[in-house]
Formats: sequence, C-alpha cells, structure tokens
Amino acid sequence: MEVEKNEAVDLLKSEIPFEWDPELVLTREVEAGRPVGLVLVDEVNGFCTVGAGNLAPTQPNKQIEKMIQESNKLAKFFSDKGWPMFVFLDTHFPDKPEPPYPPHCIIGSGEENLVPELEWLEKDPNATLKRKHCIDGFLFCTKEDGSNAFADWVNKFQIKTVLVLGICTDICVLDFASSALSARNVERVPPLEDVVIYSEGCATYNLPVHVARNIEGALAHPQELMHHMGLYMAKGRGAKIVNSVSLI
Ligand SMILES: [Zn+2]
Repeated sequence: MEVEKNEAVDLLKSEIPFEWDPELVLTREVEAGRPVGLVLVDEVNGFCTVGAGNLAPTQPNKQIEKMIQESNKLAKFFSDKGWPMFVFLDTHFPDKPEPPYPPHCIIGSGEENLVPELEWLEKDPNATLKRKHCIDGFLFCTKEDGSNAFADWVNKFQIKTVLVLGICTDICVLDFASSALSARNVERVPPLEDVVIYSEGCATYNLPVHVARNIEGALAHPQELMHHMGLYMAKGRGAKIVNSVSLI
C-alpha cells in the first residue's frame, strides 16, 4: 500500500517536474558583493511541535524535524557572521479568525512562539522578529504610509539575495516568495535580486486523503506532494529552488 502511494506521488511529481537551481554558496555570494539575508517563516510551536494545537503535527514528522535542524544550522552561521535575519512568527488575536483555518497561534497560548531549538533568535542582535496576523508576510509588512518593513530591512542591509526557509512550503513560504518577487519586479524592494528557497529547510503539514475524508469540509493535503507543489509554484513565480546550501 505504502509502495503504491509512493509510486502515485512520484507519478504526479513527474507531471510537474522542475530543475533544481545550483547550490547557493553563502560566503562566495557575500564576498562577490551580494549580501544574503536569511528569512525564516513561521517556525513556531503551533505549526511544528507535536500536539501543540489545531495545526500542529499529531506525531513526530521527519520533514518538519529536518526543517528545524537546517534552520538552526543556518541561523547559527548567519549569527556568527553577523549577517541579517528576518524571522516571521504567525500570531493571532483570539477574536479574529483566519479562515479557512481553525484557531491557531493565538497570543498567549505558546503556539505563537518559536520552537525551543530556535528560541535563542529572540535575543540575537542580528535577527529582526516580525509577528504576523496573516498568511502573506510580505503583505503584512506594509505600513500605513505605504512603506514596507521587509523592504526597509532589505534596503538597510543592501541585501541582494534572500534565502527562505520555513513552513508551509505551499502556503506562507509560497505567498511570501510570490509577493517579494512581484515587489522586486516593480522595484519596490531594492536592491533585492533573488529569492532562493531551500527545499530541505521547508516543510508543510500532512493531512492524508483517508483522514481528510472523515473531517467535514477538510481539504486533503498530502505532505510530500504539497511540498513539491509549493516549490514548483514558487519556481513558476521566479524563485530559485535549491536543495543544497554551502556555508563556504
Ligand atoms: Zn495564521
């Protein structure tokens, strides 16, 4: 049964393949005059810690564990180098629903805080933390005067490449990348040139079709396929998709 399922996923993926972009070599990039900023999307308990809420995994999940491990490794490298990081945290008010999702990451629940492995970022001087109440982090950064806090950060550090990791590949990561790329294309986020998504540093949730069938109104969301779809869609919007990041 498991073999058949994997074959089906492989078949679907083969219908929408994409080519990996070349490995991102961080130090070489920066030394070539292309400062890199690290963007972490929503690696909070409510999405990543087993049993932490309505949208948290119900059991240990390898894709999510790998994402946290890679995020921590890269964040430590950026911190050691004194390079900039922008960290989104999905955070909601209790009386403001976010359809179509059930209540999640409510202020004060603990779900809205970084996973234990990444809590150190709260005190890291290189990290800019941004709580957001909606899916699209770039959009959320828009201020009343029309300026954008993310664009300000890019400009402050003269960032040419943003390296994006986080959850969910096909939701918050995709929307952020799409908006940042649209903004780049109309010179709203100078001097940004590239949005690079690191596949091993991204994850999405798993709601298999046989489970979704028994939940009224639920959309099936098979993890591996939707992760691929998210990367594929982002690539179609102009993001670079890499499966390797070198610290050299
Ligand atoms: Zn949310």
